[in-house]
Amino acid sequence: MAKVFQATHVGKVRSNNEDSLTVIEPETFVVADGMGGASAGEVASQMLVQIVRIVLENVSAPRDEKLLARAIMVANAKIFETAKQNEDLRGMGTTATILSLEGTTAHFAHVGDSRLYLLRGKHLEQVTQDHSYVENLVRRGELTPEQARVHPMKNVLLQAVGAVEEVFVDAASFPVHSGDKFLLCTDGLTNMVDDAAIAEILLTATNPADALIDAALANGGKDNVTVIVAGVD
Ligand code: CA
Repeated sequence: MAKVFQATHVGKVRSNNEDSLTVIEPETFVVADGMGGASAGEVASQMLVQIVRIVLENVSAPRDEKLLARAIMVANAKIFETAKQNEDLRGMGTTATILSLEGTTAHFAHVGDSRLYLLRGKHLEQVTQDHSYVENLVRRGELTPEQARVHPMKNVLLQAVGAVEEVFVDAASFPVHSGDKFLLCTDGLTNMVDDAAIAEILLTATNPADALIDAALANGGKDNVTVIVAGVD
C-alpha cells in the first residue's frame, strides 16, 4: 500500500481556492485546478473530482488508463453541458490529473497543466506534459523551461476539461518500482518551486505534502496550491 500525504492551500494572494483533490480507494489520486469567472472555477474542479469518483466507484472494470481517460471524458461532457445551461458558469473548465496504482503498475490520465511527477531514487521525472501554450514553445525549442516558468502567457492552456466539446486526454501506464514516490500537483506549486527543490523535499521531508505547500507559500504563494504525494513501499 502506498503511504499518502495530501494538502491544499488557498495561497497568499487569492481569496478563493479553485483547486480540488480527492483520494479514491484503493490507491487512486485526483487533482484538478479550475478556471472561470466568479466561482465557476471552483464548480468545475469540484465537478471533476466528484464525477471521476462516481465513474470509478461504479464501474467494476480495472482502473487502467483507458477507464481513467473515460472518467475525464464523462466529466468533460457534464461540465460542458452545465456551463452551457448556466450563464454564470459559461466558459468554466478544469485541469485533471489522475493516478491509479494497481499492483506493480501505475496508470494515469491527464488534461491541462497540473502535473504528475515520479521520484525514483534521487531522480525526479515529470511524467505528464502540460497542455499549455508555453510548453509547446519549449518543445519546439523556442523557450527554455526557465523562461516558460516566468512567461506572461504561462497560464494559457490549450485545452481544459469542460471548456471544449471534445477533450483529448493523455493516458498511459508504466511499471512501479519499490520506493517510488508519486507527486500530483497544481501549477500553484510548480510556478513557485522548481524541480530541484521539489525533489529535495520529497527526499527529506517527514510530511512532504505540508512541506511542499510551505515552500510554495515561502516563495510567494501567488496561486492556490494542491499536492498529493504517494510513496510506494
Ligand atoms: Ca492554478
